[in-house]
Parts: sequence; structure tokens; C-alpha cells
Amino acid sequence: MNYENSLAFAKEQDQKDPLKEYKDRFYFPQIDRQDAIYFCGNSLGLQPKSAQRYIDNEMYKWANMAVEGHFKGDEPWFNYHQLLAGGASRVVGALPGEVVIMNQLTVNLHLMLVSFYRPEGKRYKIITEAGAFPSDQYALETQTRYHGYNPDEAIIEISPRKGEHTLRTEDIIQCIKDNTAELALVMMGGINYYTGQVFDMEAITEAGHKAGALVGFDLAHAAGNVPLRLHDWGVDFAVWCTYKYLNSGPGGTSGVYVHERHGKDSNLPRFAGWWGHDASERFQMKKGFSPMAGAEGWQVSNSQILPLAVHRASLEIFEETGMEQLREKSEKLTGYLEYLIDDIQADISLLEVITPRDPQSRGCQLSLLVKKNARELFDKLMAAKIIVDYREPNVIRVAPAPLYNSFEEVYLFAEILRENLQEN
Ligand SMILES: *Cc1c(COP(=O)(O)O)cnc(C)c1O
Repeated sequence: MNYENSLAFAKEQDQKDPLKEYKDRFYFPQIDRQDAIYFCGNSLGLQPKSAQRYIDNEMYKWANMAVEGHFKGDEPWFNYHQLLAGGASRVVGALPGEVVIMNQLTVNLHLMLVSFYRPEGKRYKIITEAGAFPSDQYALETQTRYHGYNPDEAIIEISPRKGEHTLRTEDIIQCIKDNTAELALVMMGGINYYTGQVFDMEAITEAGHKAGALVGFDLAHAAGNVPLRLHDWGVDFAVWCTYKYLNSGPGGTSGVYVHERHGKDSNLPRFAGWWGHDASERFQMKKGFSPMAGAEGWQVSNSQILPLAVHRASLEIFEETGMEQLREKSEKLTGYLEYLIDDIQADISLLEVITPRDPQSRGCQLSLLVKKNARELFDKLMAAKIIVDYREPNVIRVAPAPLYNSFEEVYLFAEILRENLQEN
């Protein structure tokens, strides 16, 4: 695409944007009674205006039906989670039976590791990315300890080469090959939260399987951001949160994917609860756990209806747009941001984009390494009513979301960035 550094160009792109109406479906944070420029959907997505109605509906049922709401009415709570499986499975490229919405991300990661990290004999090692989100690091650390291993020995972290910020797929594959005999699991982010790099999940899954290991991903930054094909790629398991690109509220619920070949295996070890038990006899309260087939068999507690209701509101929007259309706009929008930053850089070279330059290796987010006064620059952007985020020690993450951000906002952001860099 041929970009231009002008407001007129940005406005023209917005005019042509088939998704332009969607901006109106979200609430924007107000600063001095004006919509802020919000590029933080990678941290907390905006509230869909429809979410309130979905919540109100359940509050009304609770008020008027109380316990009867579990089994009576149009959408009884007993099966409520099933209303989300279809939409969620299309976001991550899975079969509906391979997905369940429940709990929160890190809890789900632990539940998955119980089933899919099963060290045996010489095979006890886990490969992951260095600098993974802390929750992933702590989950892997404590899971290896739980099995009696020293995490320093059991966890292999892959780092970028010297002088580079992101991982090369060839290095990940090589590391998997080199550890074949001892490898139990490959578990990493689908997108690294810091650099915004999309990992080649298909190639990693293939290499992991060839080495006789299982492969799982934390898709916190990938779900609702880039198209995924978990089932076709053969990924064993995945987890994601719903409050980032999926706009489902602070601390919102989470998604779990389990490939159908595992979903059928009722003998897999797991930490069970009554909601994972065969639904037809769940209320017989009998002894002996018998899991439901598919991802539902990993449920533990009865569904948290209010967070699920918010997520439903959001998934309906993704059902309308589809991931392909979102991705098409996202590549243009983030490409425009990159173009404008490069244009600024021609004059003032204080930034380094550490996110991959290849659009296939990134989603919405660009991570800007600021070479001088990073925190000060971030504060100035915030003072100019631009909401981005800052990650220690010197990175500002900027994530235009195709559902509700515009080319004009990207243009205005770049103008303000230029002004502040000149003073920096
Ligand atoms: C945001 C994020 C989390 C957050 O975990 P919660 O359990 O939802 O608090 C975990 N992992 C990654 C990679 C994240 O980006």
C-alpha cells in the first residue's frame, strides 16, 4: 500500500474503511470531555456499548427467576457457556467442541499443564521463549517444581541472537531438535507481549510433534488480533484472556482450546470439578468423575455468568466482522503507523521499532524502543490525551485496533509524537 503523511490521506482511508461504523459501537475513555486516542487495546480492550444489555439481561433473570434461571427461560445458565463456544472457536480457528470459556487465563494455563505437562523418565524439559509474560514464567517454574524438578534445568528459554530483539523461527526449530530426547513440552506465547512478535505456531507445532513433545500456546496477545488456525495446525492446547483484543472487560473470562484428539481421551490426567462431569448425570451427584467430551470436560466450577455475558456481547461483534476482515484493516493501520514513524525517524532518530517489520510476524502492536527519556516521552503522550502503555525499561507499546481505531487517530498520534520527540 502507498501511504502518505497527510491528514487528507488518513481521512480518505477512513472514508473507504468497510469497518468504520464499528467505532461507534464502543465507549472511548474521556479526557477533558473528549474521546482519548486509545491505542491500548492490547492491554484492555474498550467496552462494547452492547455489553450493558447482556449484563442487564442476566441481572434481570437473577432478580426474577433466581435459582430457576439455571434451568428455565431462553438461555438457562446450566448451558450458558455453550452459547459462546461457536463464536470463540471461530476467533481461534478451532472446532466448537475444542473450545470452552471459563475461569481466567493463568488458572486455565495451570489446568492445561496438569494434563499436558507429563514428564516421564528422560523427557521432562519445557521449551519456552525468554522474556515470556511473567505469569507464563511463574506457571512453568512452579509446575516443574511441583513435579520435583529444578526449573533452571527443566526449562529451556530461547533468546534472540545478540543484537536482535526477536526470535528467529529457525532458532526455535533448532532448539527443539537439539532437545528431542528430553523434551516433554513446548509452551510459549503466540505473540510476545513485549516485542509484539507473532511466532510461527504452525512450524513450532510441527517441530514439537516431530520431537515427540506436546505443544501449547498462551494466546493472550493473539486472540482477536491475528487469524489463528489452531485445529489445522494441530496445536495440542491453548489459553487466552478475553479482556485485551477481545474487549470483554477487566479481569474478564478466558478461553481454552484442547485439540479434539485429546478431548476424546477421558483418561488424560486432569484436575476435575463437577462442571466438567458428564452433563447428563451432573446433578445425580454420583461418585466417580466421568468427563464431558471436548474442552468442556476441563471445566471445574459452574460458569461465571456475568463475565460470560460480557464476552458474548463482544463475540457477536467478531461474528459480524470475521477475523479476515479485521486482519486486512489491521495490516493497513499498523503499516500506516510504521510508515509515519519511519517518516519522523528520517529527521530524528530516537526510536527503534523492535516489532518485526514483516507484517506476517506481527499483529496490531508496534513496540517502540525509546533511546532517550522514555518515561518522559510516555508522560507527554498521555498529557496529550493519547493512551498508550509503557513497559520497563524503555519501551512504549502502541496498538491501533482495527475494530475501533482510525487512520486519522494514527495520523494525529504520529504528529504529537513528532512534536514531543523534537523536544525530547
Ligand atoms: C495479559 C497476559 C496474561 C494475564 O494473565 P491473567 O491470568 O489474565 O491475569 C497472561 N499471559 C500473557 C502472555 C498476557 O499477555
